Formats: sequence, structure tokens, C-alpha cells
Amino acid sequence: MDLNKDVKYIKGVGPNRVLLLNKLGIFSLNDLITYYPRTYEDRSKAKPLSECAHGEEVTIEAVACAKIIETRLPRNRTMQKLIIRDETGVATVTWFNQSYLKNKFEPGNKYRFYGKVNHSFGKLEITSPVFDEWGKKQNTGRIIPIYPLTFQLSQNSLRKIMENAIQEVEGKLPETLPEKIRKAVNLEEINLATKYIHFPTSIEDFTKARKRLVFEELFSTQLALLALKNKYLSEDKGISFEKEAKMSDIIQAFPFQMTKAQLRVLQEIDENMESTKPMNRLLQGDVGSGKTAVAMCAAYKAVKSGYQVAIMAPTAILATQHWHNFKAILDEKNIRSELLISGITKKQKENILSRLAEGEIDIIIGTHALLEEKVEFKKLGLVVTDEQHRFGVKQRTTIAEKGQNPDVLVMSATPIPRTLALILYGDLDISIIDELPPNRKKIETFAVTKQMASRIDAFIQKQLEQGRQAYIVCPLVEENEEMDLRSVSEVYEKYQTEIFPNYRVAYIHGKMKPKEKEEIMNQFKKQKIDLLISTTVIEVGVDVPNANIMVIENAERFGLAQLHQLRGRVGRGEYQSFCILKYEGKGETIRKRMKVMCETNDGFIISEKDLELRGSGDFFGTMQHGIPEFKIANLFEDMPILKLAQQAAQNLMVEDPELEKKENQIIKQLISDKFKTRIEI
Ligand code: ADP
Ligand code: MG
Repeated sequence: MDLNKDVKYIKGVGPNRVLLLNKLGIFSLNDLITYYPRTYEDRSKAKPLSECAHGEEVTIEAVACAKIIETRLPRNRTMQKLIIRDETGVATVTWFNQSYLKNKFEPGNKYRFYGKVNHSFGKLEITSPVFDEWGKKQNTGRIIPIYPLTFQLSQNSLRKIMENAIQEVEGKLPETLPEKIRKAVNLEEINLATKYIHFPTSIEDFTKARKRLVFEELFSTQLALLALKNKYLSEDKGISFEKEAKMSDIIQAFPFQMTKAQLRVLQEIDENMESTKPMNRLLQGDVGSGKTAVAMCAAYKAVKSGYQVAIMAPTAILATQHWHNFKAILDEKNIRSELLISGITKKQKENILSRLAEGEIDIIIGTHALLEEKVEFKKLGLVVTDEQHRFGVKQRTTIAEKGQNPDVLVMSATPIPRTLALILYGDLDISIIDELPPNRKKIETFAVTKQMASRIDAFIQKQLEQGRQAYIVCPLVEENEEMDLRSVSEVYEKYQTEIFPNYRVAYIHGKMKPKEKEEIMNQFKKQKIDLLISTTVIEVGVDVPNANIMVIENAERFGLAQLHQLRGRVGRGEYQSFCILKYEGKGETIRKRMKVMCETNDGFIISEKDLELRGSGDFFGTMQHGIPEFKIANLFEDMPILKLAQQAAQNLMVEDPELEKKENQIIKQLISDKFKTRIEI
């Protein structure tokens, strides 16, 4: 059995289906069997007809009363009707355009159906159900996996293909986890786990299977990161930047004194840069703690040592802002920096690219555009990525590969608890700025319900009258009736025409062109706009000291860490700032979450609480941390398994740091497959 073999060789997969499977990212047998169900439907327990409620999806065991009767409908359509009964009642089963069913049912024979019940005017109807002959359990009579799917490939087809695949591998999958660990953590072996994750026969099967697969995924990821870190630490191939390129020269150029925390972190970075070990460091610090200043010092050292620097930010707005900040300090030191974002003209771009390749630009600041193949450096020595949670691990390495083992500094304003830091950044050393520059005022935060809306508007007006500016943040761009979220444009209309007709209101959202967004942000900065309605595009890094109010609509829909980041957009100037969280819903979790936001400004406390108080309404939750996509694990729900996996990975790294022992060869193979582009250990 070859797990790498093309899916086209699996029974039931024709040329058409190969393409559909490929679209789902399934190319090999292994891809297929690790394409896990999104959820399950329990079709194992049948209901008597008399107990079927309207709208319910049920399994019914009943006898056909007569043959199917087919009726012709207008426009070449047909309808098939079958009358069925069990001991408790009678029902009509209806299909449309399924002539081939005509002779499928024998009067007097028993069948099992699964479908949605219609109960009106005292009549029971089931429309377009799936069914099995008695004694067969194909579409009914068992727990059925539901896959995350395309509309083209039906659940039924994929399920059948999956059954064939599982049959093919059953009993032949080699165990990937070391026996010792599997025993210690009490994990299902791989063959049963694979079978039961797709086709559980009971909830117990499923739970055991899932636990094992989640563990394996987290364990191998954690192990890979730790192994990668070990590898960095044992290497001597990094750049050793000049001792003479002194950071203190640039530290003195700032119009403020660095905080103690900044100085400590700079010391760590300085040592790391001078050593021959490549730097792979995460710089964590709350919004406004001064990470950018730290990055500038590192960039200065690299340039003065004769290297180029790449600074990568998640949005054009932020890249532009960084560029201005860098120029303000570094131009005087004759350091040449340029901005590369998708908004610039082709000509400008070509010019920048050729100068970059010639070494005529020292620092290039940009967005994802920096990842493009055409971007070449003469001598790239340092890569800084800002707000890392927007970039994946892959992107981090893509840019680093443009140089010869450049040092890498990753900045993140999302303080994360240790357990998460270890699985997200387990390959990095961590530096923390745990202190804000002096004289920052606490942002006063209030949580309010709808009833307070007009009082809040009056409050905003007072601040606008005094010349301040305000943000209103909404969770979604387009109207979504279902969830009653207020769209940006709707809110904009309301404020501009009804509430503040005399003030300049504007809106900005993620789907605008980068140029448009930038234009609006610039106008806001120049105080040509008083009130800015936006989605979360302003979340990261934007600096407008005159803005002192942040209103967040439907605050219950955001994760706490994200609320904290948003709030960090105000409180950047000399004025007392305010954050108003408008929330809906009465749940206790919601109230607790709002309370945390009102009580503390400390990002680390907030992120701990965020994990603790994750409510079901919090579907933005995972995005804010940039959690990598796991196939089956969910870092929040699976926290207990994550802890077990981390412990096991750490133990294993102590016992066998190079993964040389015989029993660890399979797991070694597994992790190097998984992180193909990154490690050969
Ligand atoms: P971060 O990137 O961590 O969110 P920034 O580096 O953008 O923070 O800094 C936020 C603001 O604080 C900037 O206006 C910056 O000039 C200023 N700043 C940074 N460090 C200090 C400091 N030590 N003292 C006073 N102001 C500082
Ligand atoms: Mg920043």
C-alpha cells in the first residue's frame, strides 16, 4: 500500500472526480484519508412516524404500501410519490425528476429512509430522502460523516470514495507515534483511529479516534518547531553583524528616552545579531510599547554592517506609516529606504526593484509584495515582519530565503499565553517589551447596550466639538440579515445624514483598493475627517494621535485580544481617550468578557482571559491569533490535548534531541514531510 499514490487509482474515482478532489486539495491517498469530516449525522436510530416533528431530519423504518406513482409536471419535470407506513402511521415520500426510482420499491418490503419531515394539515411528507433496502446500511442506519465540501461533489460520492480508501488502507497504516508515548497518553492506534474518524460506530469510537489524531497533529507540529529551534541553536552559519555598528548611535537620535524594557530587548537583539548564530526572534509587546523603534535600531545596525533590510507589514497603510517613521529617523543617517506596496506605478516599482538588486536601497518596507519572486536583494541581512499573526510560517521563510541565512525578527502586538506561544512560535526565541512609555493615559473603557446609543452619540459629539476625532468599528462589510450585523455603509449613512450631518463622516473597509484606503487614512490623519466608520482594517498599527474615541459595534462578536488591539488605536496622543464597547446579548460569558475589557489595559491578562472565556459567539476568535490551519485540532477546544502534546514533545527532545533513535524514525519522517520547505533534520 502506497500512501502517496494518486487518488485517481482509488476505486470510485473517475477522471471527473479526480478534478473535484484536487480542488479540495486532495491529490494522494494520504490526502484523502486525512480529509476529515466537518461533522456527523446520526442516522442510526429510527423514529416512529407518529413522533416525527415538522422540520426534523429523521431516520424512518417503514414498509412500501404500493409501487411508486409518477406524475408529469410542466416543463418536462416529473414527480415520484411513494406511500409508506410503520406501526404508528402513514407518510408520503416525494422525489422530483428521479424516474429511475420507479421500480426500486416493492410493495410489502421494508426500507430505511433519511430525510426532512414536512408536517402540515395533519399529513406527513418526506421530500427527497436517501434510503436503503432493508438489511443494507449505506445511506442510513449508521453515523454518517459530513465533509467540508464543494457543491459539485456530493456527500454521497465522497463518502463512497472514502469507504473504498479506508478499506484499502485498513490494517496497513504504519504507526506514526512512538509506542511509549501512545501508551503513556492512552491513544488509539492509527488504523482504528483513521477508520473511526470517518465512520464511527459510536460516540466512544469517535472520541478516541479524534483524541489520537488531534494529539498526533499537535505533537508533530510542536516537535517540528522544537527540532527546528535545536537546529538553529547548533548552527554557526548566521551573519555576524559588526560590533562597530553601534545601536547606541541611533538610540540617541530618537526624540525620547527608550524605556528600560526596550533597552533590555535591544541588548538581547544586539547580542544575537553579533553572534554567528542566526537570529530567529519573536518580539512581543503590547500595542504602543515601542516595537517599531526597536526594529529601527536593529535595521540601523544591519545597514551599518553593510547589509540590506526588509520590513514586511500586513497592510499598505501600515507599511506606509512605518516608512515615514523610518525616514524621520534614518534619512539623516544617510540610510536609503523605499516603500514597495501594490499601489505604486509599474515604473516606480521597476525602478525600486532594480535599485534593490543593485544594493542602492538599504531598507525596503512593504507588504506581501515583498514576497514576490521578482524581489531580489544584493545582500539581505535582516528581515523584520510586523504583526506576525497576519503572516504564515511559510511567508516568514519565503522572504528569509531571499538572503543567505538572514537574521529574522518577528514582531507581534498580540500578547499570547505561553502554551500558545510555544505552538505558534516554538522555533523562535522570545523577547518581551512589558512596559509602556511613560505618561500614557489609561484608555477609559465602557461596555454599553443599545439603549445607551443616543447618550453615546451625545458623548461623541462633545469630543468632536472640542476638535477630537473618533472611530466607529463594525464587524462586517456587507449587510447580513441573519446575524443582524450592522454594515459599514449602513452605519455611515445613519451617522452622516441623521446623527452628525454637520461633521465630516467617512468610511473605509477591507474591500476597497489600497489607494482608496490610504487616501482616506491620510485624510483622517490630516483631520479632514472627523468620524471614521470602519471594519477591522484599522486594527493594526495606524497612528492618529488626535483621535480619542473608539466605538466598537457588536463588540460581543470580537475576540478579547482583537478588541484590545482595536482599542490601542486611541490613546496615542495627549488627550484622555475612550473606548466604548456596544454589545448585544445577555449571556454571562459576554458580560464577563466586557468586564475584563473595562477593568484592564494589560494585553497579557486579556489574552489569558480570552482563552478562559471563549464564548460560542466568538467566531472571530481564531483569526486574531493567526492560528495556523490544523486539519483536525482546534487550539482552544483542545487545550488539554495541546498540553499533553507539548509535554511529550519536550520530553522527547530531551531524550533524543536529534531524533536518532530507531523508534523515533517514523515521527522524524513525519515532521520533515510536514515542514518540507523548512527542515531537513
Ligand atoms: P508598537 O509598534 O509597539 O505598537 P510604536 O513603536 O509604534 O509601538 O510606538 C508607539 C508610539 O510611541 C510611537 O509614536 C513612538 O514614537 C512612541 N514611542 C516609542 N518608544 C517610546 C519611548 N520610549 N518613549 C516615548 N515614546 C515612545
Ligand atoms: Mg506596531
